[in-house]
Amino acid sequence: MVQYYKICHRELWFFYNQINMNYNNDDIDIGKLIHKNSYSRENKEIKLDNMVFDYVKSNNGLTIFEVKKSSSLTIGAKYQLYYYLYSMRKLNPNITGELVYPKERKKEKIILTDKIIKEMDKILEDIPKIVQLDKPPKAYKKKYCRKCSFFELCMV
Ligand code: SF4
Repeated sequence: MVQYYKICHRELWFFYNQINMNYNNDDIDIGKLIHKNSYSRENKEIKLDNMVFDYVKSNNGLTIFEVKKSSSLTIGAKYQLYYYLYSMRKLNPNITGELVYPKERKKEKIILTDKIIKEMDKILEDIPKIVQLDKPPKAYKKKYCRKCSFFELCMV
């Protein structure tokens, strides 16, 4: 829901209210394949409470990794990882995150700052207000819309 909040409040509302579109999304299939075939030596998919980590490593602290298909339009993925760090920070203050793009051989370090903690407080306060609205928030055009399963419904 944190990802949807950052990408589109309307999509967040659809998700929470269990409104789905039937679609065949190649991006999701490719994403699943990357998850299956990349970093097979790592410990994969650790489930904790409402979180699923792609894999973790412990060195001096703890690093949570999130594997993604492409480094474009990653704001949602970044905030998903911020949410994991935010939720885990009291258990392990030395926790960091890393977004990994195997196809591009790229990595991006994610650090939880005080500013992000404040923003996350606000996000977690806002989400229940949005999902409980009687109607979905209005659609407005953004870069992400073309890849969204609700594109034909929203007609943006
Ligand atoms: S098509 Fe655009 S406005 Fe509609 S739900 Fe998707 S991201 Fe939101």
